[in-house]
Amino acid sequence: MRQEFDVEPYLAAVRVGEDAASAVYVRNKVRTSVELGLRSEHHALAAETTQAELLELVASLNARDEVDGILVQLPLPSAIDEERVIEAINPAKDVDGFHPVNVGRLSLGQSVIAPCTPAGIIELLERNGIEMSGARACIVGRSHIVGRPLFQLLLQRDATVTICHSRTRELASVTREADILIAAIGRAGFIKAEHIKPGATVVDVGINRVTDEAEVRALFGDEAEKRLAGIASRGYTIVGDVHPAEARRVAGKLTPVPGGVGPLTVAMLMRNTVAAAKLRRQIK
Ligand code: NAP
Repeated sequence: MRQEFDVEPYLAAVRVGEDAASAVYVRNKVRTSVELGLRSEHHALAAETTQAELLELVASLNARDEVDGILVQLPLPSAIDEERVIEAINPAKDVDGFHPVNVGRLSLGQSVIAPCTPAGIIELLERNGIEMSGARACIVGRSHIVGRPLFQLLLQRDATVTICHSRTRELASVTREADILIAAIGRAGFIKAEHIKPGATVVDVGINRVTDEAEVRALFGDEAEKRLAGIASRGYTIVGDVHPAEARRVAGKLTPVPGGVGPLTVAMLMRNTVAAAKLRRQIK
């Protein structure tokens, strides 16, 4: 193993189509990589890009030795098979941690490259001194990018983990047991006071665009004015999956949206890119 780290980690980001949110996410990721001194390149492909063309690009990025990390922003247009594209990425360069090899390693507790949003949530809990060992953690949402990998990461840290979804019966009675409640649902303000154990740590993963003034007033109460100004200037405001006014009354700690899990997701992508660069080059 080499000890020194004299390479500049190199991230290649790929986006297909015109999804506005994806464009913002990829721009943030590329900008952060530049700020941190990583090298990067950004492929913004037209919505008509075929699966074969995308697979060809992935193959070329796999083959280029200077490229350490490949990020294909999801969702892809419906004509493209996401699973095939993810499986085409060299697992050693899969900085999103979505390749089946990395998913398998994560479930065996061997992962080095863990998916960015769940890894960011763990970082957030650790840095805020939230005890995970022995705690009851409940995740609402079982997606491959958030809920399932987060289940594994919390389990590795000895939490007692429950995962809920749209078929869970009496959701509030399950979530109210949790010392740590994580909402990854995709529905603005869905988690309310009745879902939260008094004093619990609540992590809000949701990113939802809300445009309706009455909805904003109901969600933010006294603090609605700033959000309404956002709607007036941009046409929408970003709201999480947790009802902010209700949660503030009950929760011990609550992550903000925006500015909570989102920036950590980007930070973990950078960490994964550096880790991939070191691993591939056999640097400690
Ligand atoms: P997803 O793939 O749409 O999954 C949503 C999950 O919520 C599913 O498991 C679904 O259950 C569950 N669900 C839906 N309605 C429910 C209900 N009424 N009761 C209980 N569970 C319900 O979403 P995702 O990709 O994980 O994303 C979730 C949210 O996080 C979105 O707002 C997304 O924008 C945001 N997000 C943020 C970041 C970040 O960096 N901050 C990163 C990724 C995602 P079923 O499985 O039964 O359908």
